[in-house]
Amino acid sequence: MSCMKLRRKIGSSTVVLIALGLAMACIWAANVEAASLRAGVAVQDITSDAPTKNIHDPLYAKALVLDDGTAKVVIISADIGSVSGTLVAEVRRRVQEELGINQKNVLLNASHNHHTWNQTAEDMAVRIVQAVEQAASTMVPVKIGVGVGYEDRISMNRRLRLKNRKEWTIRRANPSPQDSEVVGLGPMDSEIGILRLDKVGGGTLAVLYNFAVHPYGGVPDGGVTADLPGFASRVIEEAMGPGAIALFVQGAAGDITPIRYKDFDAPPPTERLGMMLGRSVIATAKRLPMKEKSDIKVVSEIIELPRRQDVAVRIQSLEEQQVEILRFFAGIGCGAHGAGTSLNFKSFLPLYIKYLIDPNYPSYSSYLYLAEQATDRRDLKHLDAANKKRVEKYLQCIHKMEELIRLQTNLQILKRHLREDDSRSLVVEIQSIRIGEFIMVTFPGELFAEVGLRLKKQSPFPHTFIAAYSNGHVGYAPTADVYGGEAYEDVLTHLDPQWQQLYETTALELIRKLP
Ligand SMILES: [Zn+2]
Repeated sequence: MSCMKLRRKIGSSTVVLIALGLAMACIWAANVEAASLRAGVAVQDITSDAPTKNIHDPLYAKALVLDDGTAKVVIISADIGSVSGTLVAEVRRRVQEELGINQKNVLLNASHNHHTWNQTAEDMAVRIVQAVEQAASTMVPVKIGVGVGYEDRISMNRRLRLKNRKEWTIRRANPSPQDSEVVGLGPMDSEIGILRLDKVGGGTLAVLYNFAVHPYGGVPDGGVTADLPGFASRVIEEAMGPGAIALFVQGAAGDITPIRYKDFDAPPPTERLGMMLGRSVIATAKRLPMKEKSDIKVVSEIIELPRRQDVAVRIQSLEEQQVEILRFFAGIGCGAHGAGTSLNFKSFLPLYIKYLIDPNYPSYSSYLYLAEQATDRRDLKHLDAANKKRVEKYLQCIHKMEELIRLQTNLQILKRHLREDDSRSLVVEIQSIRIGEFIMVTFPGELFAEVGLRLKKQSPFPHTFIAAYSNGHVGYAPTADVYGGEAYEDVLTHLDPQWQQLYETTALELIRKLP
């Protein structure tokens, strides 16, 4: 029953006191609905004081604290690889003890930066909490704007679908497959979730943006960098005015790579890609309608995801494939007389180039072939035929070597699992946050883009976004349908394929609890 209806119904003098009480309750409820949102934001440098590499640009932890008068939420964006259980526990404990904010309402997101190994401050938890304290002590009334931007030029799905129905992940750590084997790519989510906070007194306080991409391209000098999100944030901060802070929240990037990640003929384009992302955020952020009143809700749940039990079987399958490859090297289909290739790299390369330059007359000029023809000889033709076969065999050996390299990596990963994985399940926390119309649901690991797309589609809220790499880290979480693809992520994962349904069900339940 609405407050208006109640007021109409309660007219008798005998219930005046009750009516007054109810009226007060209605006014209180109206006030809560209309409560202004307050927010504060702060940044701390979390780069190591004794880095072992050149610092191209610093690593940051950025904290955003929001308060609607009833609930508070803390969102921390950190330029780190992943959030360890120890880090999130310490940050949450101290935030609750020192600031009285419910630790369940703290979201700690890692940008999944790959350049931080030994390069972050030893007292990182302290610095993160300092950022939260600073943000909490400088809160001001804010207006919020929520929207979706797009950026489809800077990233792609890195899982290549092959003719043989398996998949191959683009990685610098191992070779890519032959072009002729690749028939497709995994799906992409090019959305950018955007939450803009403007001070009621004027000026932008913060822009939080959510996008999915692996920040591992690096900078040309190989130095420490906040990578693609670092460059994007800098562009956003410059454009949104003095004091504005941009916070990147990593999305479902488990299978998403920056474009041209494996170019060998140009320095990494990370800065340019970051600037493109930043400009796409700005284009949307600047035209968002800003709302004066908004409220906050946070719900979370801890669930167990079953650990994979197929490691021994997968090892056996890979070992069988390894035997096949070794049999190839032993002679079948590879070398003349079963003895491997007759070429080495030094003899292969000039031959390969000669036959590429002129497939008709590789051995020399056409006139020599004409001279042979005139004297009824075929020496050059025979030589060419033999050399073509040698080149072809050498190339086959190289491709087999590339397969073997990837297979060896996968075998090592699986054998490590067999040694280390002892528990039957992994405990994960899923958190769902609503700030006005902006919804984020978390996962403590590397979600695939497809899972994010599915959650967005099934969510009743149009502005639903995914904060993967949050509040813990259980590694890769591939979709159930790609298990057995023998690509990096489905080999590396600790999870049983059932994880997907369990996670998606709980995440959607939590999202539906948000109104
Ligand atoms: Zn990753």
